[in-house]
Formats: sequence, structure tokens, C-alpha cells
Amino acid sequence: VIEVLRAALGADRVLTDPELVAPHETDWTGRWNGPAVAVVRPRSVEEVAEVVAVCRTTGTPLVPQGGNTGLVGGGVPRGGELILSTAALLSGPEVDPVAGQVLAGAGVTLGAVQAAATAAGWRYPIDLGARDSATIGGTVATNAGGNHVLAHGMTRRHLVGLEAVLGTGAVVSHLGGLVKDNTGYDLPGLLCGSEGTLGVITAVRLALVPAPEATAVALVGLDDLAAAVAVAATARRTVPGLEAAEVVLADGSALVRETFALPVVLEPEPPVTLLLEVAGTLGAGDRLAAFLASVDGLRGSAVAEDRAGRAALWRVREEHNPAINRLGPPHKYDVTLPAARLDAVVTAVRSRVGGLDPSARLWVFGHVGDGNLHLNVTGLDPADERADDAVLALVAEAGGSISAEHGIGVAKRPWLPLARSPEEIAAFRAIKEALDPDGILNPGVLL
Ligand SMILES: Cc1cc2nc3c(=O)[nH]c(=O)nc-3n(C[C@H](O)[C@H](O)[C@H](O)COP(=O)(O)OP(=O)(O)OC[C@H]3O[C@@H](n4cnc5c(N)ncnc54)[C@H](O)[C@@H]3O)c2cc1C
Repeated sequence: VIEVLRAALGADRVLTDPELVAPHETDWTGRWNGPAVAVVRPRSVEEVAEVVAVCRTTGTPLVPQGGNTGLVGGGVPRGGELILSTAALLSGPEVDPVAGQVLAGAGVTLGAVQAAATAAGWRYPIDLGARDSATIGGTVATNAGGNHVLAHGMTRRHLVGLEAVLGTGAVVSHLGGLVKDNTGYDLPGLLCGSEGTLGVITAVRLALVPAPEATAVALVGLDDLAAAVAVAATARRTVPGLEAAEVVLADGSALVRETFALPVVLEPEPPVTLLLEVAGTLGAGDRLAAFLASVDGLRGSAVAEDRAGRAALWRVREEHNPAINRLGPPHKYDVTLPAARLDAVVTAVRSRVGGLDPSARLWVFGHVGDGNLHLNVTGLDPADERADDAVLALVAEAGGSISAEHGIGVAKRPWLPLARSPEEIAAFRAIKEALDPDGILNPGVLL
């Protein structure tokens, strides 16, 4: 396979040096890894099609990989796969200022797409902590959510076109960018969130939104998670332009501050801190301040309107993933819970995790405005699935989702039946068999 690919694409396109391959073999959390045959870096859709053709004829399994920031182990090998890195698929980002759309190669980072949109007077509103490493193709392959889902939805809402090489080897390209186009099955929508199991996405066209005139961020100290849910709900109802409602707890904030030597913002540290972000017309800061004045039981607050001040208030929330990772490979649960049950489920999870092992520790943070919490358990062996069983069962019993935005990958695959019926999984399999008949694309992920 290596020789054939080198002959077809050029020797420099196929990495086998263990030092160069190693970073591609382990995921961002350090929990998932496996040896790869090699890493191949095609530069065009034609070269991707060649790689898929070689894999089909040789029966070589293929793992598509973007920025390798995925949190469910879906972008790294299980053992013996070829990694197709999209790092060299770097066309664009090209903004169409009239249509309000951006066209970009799959390997362009999310941050570069955001910057191109901003430079053209528009905005790409999908945003997440890994923006400078995650690729735009990866965000489409995972239907990434992030910080602004409240106002702007998930990635699929912005996807207006896509080019991909299917597992059959066929190139499908629908990049025209027509907003209204009811001409059959929505292939871009189907590939969005398919986690590299149906095709390799090579380019995407995304709809942009107007850039806000002003943005303001507030930190709000509160007594408990139930109060955070209630305040976030009132803010959604009464504050025009609310874009984010994020929550962190005192122990997580302390960990982040200690890890990255950050100053305390609200003193004394409240049990729960809610971050609210408002964007839109001028006066966003005044609207946010007026809302805070109406909230009972505040344990301190801070507001920032300038870029540096806003970034400083976001920092404790954004550094949760990196700080927790430093404690060792975590077990990560990215769950959605019904608002009314969120507090009770977290209490139940805390008690179950505490009973598993004296060293097990639960960390809670996330996008509370849309019911999406990131529950992280540290102190357990990566292979120990007791917490996975307990947490995901509690979430499913409460009517929640076992994966809000990170996907199923390999991390949640055994628990997919908690979320999807046998009929739905049978439909998934039928789609997989049609688009990837040899099962070469990301075997073991999702299904
Ligand atoms: C600090 C941090 C914060 C994060 N915050 C969020 C958040 O708020 N919201 C959120 O949704 N996620 C979040 N994530 C998870 C991650 O950033 C997203 O899932 C992101 O979309 C992955 O992009 P990537 O390019 O790194 O993909 P990878 O990790 O390389 O791959 C992820 C999956 O997509 C597949 N894939 C990648 N590229 C392609 C392609 N071109 N064609 C087909 N399949 C492909 C892979 O096979 C794999 O299954 C966070 C991660 C980190 C590290």
C-alpha cells in the first residue's frame, strides 16, 4: 500500500517515520490510540479518490483525520489502518461576500474560516475551544456544536454544500451554494455528522451570518446548578442577542486557575459560575448589565465588552478541557439533559462515580443554555468502563442524549442502543453498506 501510494502521489505524501506518524496515532485526550500503516496527505480531491481506490483494492481500512481534536476516539487508528490526513486540503477559504458564504478545503482550520469571514465583514458563528487546530472538514464530519448553538445552531445549519469521496470511490460534489435546492436527498446533510464512516469530505461551503456591532460577556456567581439553569432560561427569554450560556463549578475553576496561573475573577469563588454572552447591536453591555440587575441571589458578577476583557472572562471555561487532560486520560461524557432534570442527574452521577473508586473524580462544565453538559471523570484506568456504563445509563434513563455534540466515535459505540432504536441502527447500516460497501471507512466508529 505504501509503495503504491508513493508511486501515485509522490513519496513526500506518505509518512512512515515513526516520529512523524506518532502524533496522528493518539487522540487529543490520550485515551485512544493504535498503530497506523502510514499517514497519507493528499492535496486534492483527485488524490483522495486515488487513496480510496487503493484502499478498496487492497482491503486497507482508512481513518480520515483532520485536526485530531475529536473527543470520542474516531479520528485515530484502532490498529493497522491507513490515516488519511486532510492537512494538505487547503483551498480557500474563499468568501463570497454577495452570497454570504465561504468555500474552504477540508483541512483549513475553523479559526482560519472565522478570520476570513470576519475580514470580509461577515461572521462564521460556529466556535469552540479547539478553533485553531480543528479543521473545517472535521467540524462538518462531527456536526460540531460549540459555544453559540443557542443562537446559531450546530454546523449542519450552516452547511450549504459539500464535496466528498464516498467509500465507493465516487466523488460527489454539490458546492453551488444555492440556499433553496430541494432536488432529492440531502447528501451534505447526511455526511455532516457521519464521523468519517461514509466518505472523506474534501471541501465545504458554509453560510455566514452578519457580524455583530457589539459583544459583551458576563460572569455571574450563583449558588447551584439549578440556579444556573433557571437564570440561563430567563436570559434566553428576555435578553435579545443571547448567544452563549456556559457553566463552570468552583472545583473546575480552581483547577484551571491553578493549572494556568490565572487570577480569581469573582471573589470569593461562587459554587457555580454562569457565563453569558450577548451579541448584536450597540448597547449589548448595557442590556447584559440591566439583566444582571434583575437577577436575585447573585454571588458577584463581572462584565466585559472589549475583546481582551471578554477573552479573559471566557478563559476559565475554555481551559477546562486542557486542565482536566493534564490529570491523565479522562473518561468524557458529552451529554444533553432535559433542563428540569439536569441538576438531579448530575447529583446522581456524582454519587455513582464516587462509589466506583476512591480516586474517581467528577468534573462538570458545559453549554448549560442548551442542556449540554460535559461530565468528565478522572482517576480511572482508560480501559475501565464502569463509569461509562453508569453515567450513560443514568443519562438515558433521564431522557437525555449520550452524545450532544462530540459524536459516537469508538468511545460511545457500545452504548449506541441506549440512544437509537434497532430500526434506526438498521437504517444506519443500510446507508453505510450503500456508500461504503467494502467497509473500509473508519471501521469500528459509530457502528
Ligand atoms: C479544547 C477542545 C474543545 C472542544 N470543544 C468542542 C465544542 O465546544 N463543541 C464540539 O462540538 N466539539 C468540541 N471539541 C471536539 C472537536 O474539536 C470537534 O469534534 C471538531 O469538530 C473535530 O475537528 P477535527 O478536525 O479535529 O477532527 P478530527 O478529530 O481529526 O476527527 C473527528 C472525526 O471526524 C472525522 N473526520 C475528520 N475530518 C474528516 C473529513 N475531512 N472527512 C471525513 N471525516 C473526517 C474523523 O474520522 C473522526 O471520526 C473540542 C475539542 C477540544 C480539544
